[in-house]
Amino acid sequence: MQFNDPHQKAIYSEPAPIKRSHENPFEAMVERFDIAAKILELDEGFYEYLVTPARIHITAIPVVMDTGKIKMFEGYRVIHSDILGPSKGGIRYAPDVTLDEVKALASWMTWKCAIVSVPFGGAKGGVICDPKGMSAGELERMTRRYTANMTDVFGPDKDIPAPDMNTNEQIMAWILDTYSMQAKRTAPAVVTGKPISLGGSEGRREATGRGVMTVTLAAMERLNMRVAGTTVAVQGFGNVGSVAADLLTQQGCKVVAVSDVSGGYYNENGLNIHAMLAYSAANGNSLEGYADASPISNQELLSLDVDVLAPCAKEDQITSANADSIRAKIIVEGANGPTSPGADKILAEKGTLVIPDILANAGGVTVSYFEWVQDRQGYFWTKDRVERRLDRMMSKAFDDVYDKAGKHDTTLRIGAYVLAIKKVADALKLRGIYG
Ligand code: GLU
Repeated sequence: MQFNDPHQKAIYSEPAPIKRSHENPFEAMVERFDIAAKILELDEGFYEYLVTPARIHITAIPVVMDTGKIKMFEGYRVIHSDILGPSKGGIRYAPDVTLDEVKALASWMTWKCAIVSVPFGGAKGGVICDPKGMSAGELERMTRRYTANMTDVFGPDKDIPAPDMNTNEQIMAWILDTYSMQAKRTAPAVVTGKPISLGGSEGRREATGRGVMTVTLAAMERLNMRVAGTTVAVQGFGNVGSVAADLLTQQGCKVVAVSDVSGGYYNENGLNIHAMLAYSAANGNSLEGYADASPISNQELLSLDVDVLAPCAKEDQITSANADSIRAKIIVEGANGPTSPGADKILAEKGTLVIPDILANAGGVTVSYFEWVQDRQGYFWTKDRVERRLDRMMSKAFDDVYDKAGKHDTTLRIGAYVLAIKKVADALKLRGIYG
């Protein structure tokens, strides 16, 4: 336990009795974990160990707002596991962040890193705030204070943050600077997803979307689907969805629908993703008012008669309430946790191939790993090298998960959990229990 900052308290408690509700993302994780643990015949003690976050840090963040008044924010950093290496995972800023959500996301990072074989454990951070209603100065002060409060948690060999929802390269630069000022040396490897001029990696920004493209093509090959003309709907037009839509179009797919917070956009002849990217960039990162498409609702987008559906926005989009209406043959989860356990069952019965989040969006952390390696070596790779290595690792991860699922006659999601839990459990067995 660490209490070295008066604003930071770490708690480590017995796991609360698990309720089986579908709305809690941590419980949704545990529900899948349970199925995989049964397949693996995981020892009870290992089960408890691997389902429990290693450390939970909750910190109070005072920020002097532009009005001159102090406002308190609450921040989290959950270290789920450091069995395979230093913990790794993004930080999200949102008004509705909850500790359970951060716990689920932290454990997904553990499984994600194991699936793509990068030597990291899993972590996640979050701050409850409304970043859209804050000035750049307020965001900077909040980021710096959160980082200062986490000085003993973060570290290139300990815990390495990255961007997630509503956090970006600039925020990573402030984390790097704050940590480095306290450490009295510049420590680029303490954070990934930072600007290239500060030791960021070529290809990191596009990495998650690129990984989505790679596993989608791998799945189409398994299903003997032709790539040219394959229809795609993408929910979300942020860093993941927009890049995935662009790259899939470049491969010959026809992206017929995308959405962002302003709504859904549909064109049965295929959207001009290039024009939409330019429009959104020029329009404050919003597609609001984009004319060359008809409007559709979020639900309509999800149930379009397309070959591939890529939910790249946020959690809990496909649930038992709407899973039956899904018509796509492949769902590729660019977002973390877009499908509930109830929906998993319905989709499996329908024969929909779901490429689970912990595989589909692992391209981001894979290039984060490349970034960390480059920072530590002080030797930087070309974009081409990054992309080739990413493609290779994502294709291998897809094959490994596909084979595991086949071996146990289960879904790709459960196959992915089995693969990941086995890797972490084997490492735990070798390390043993200290003390
Ligand atoms: N936030 C991203 C994720 O959910 C990236 C994490 C990282 O690169 O460490 O995978």
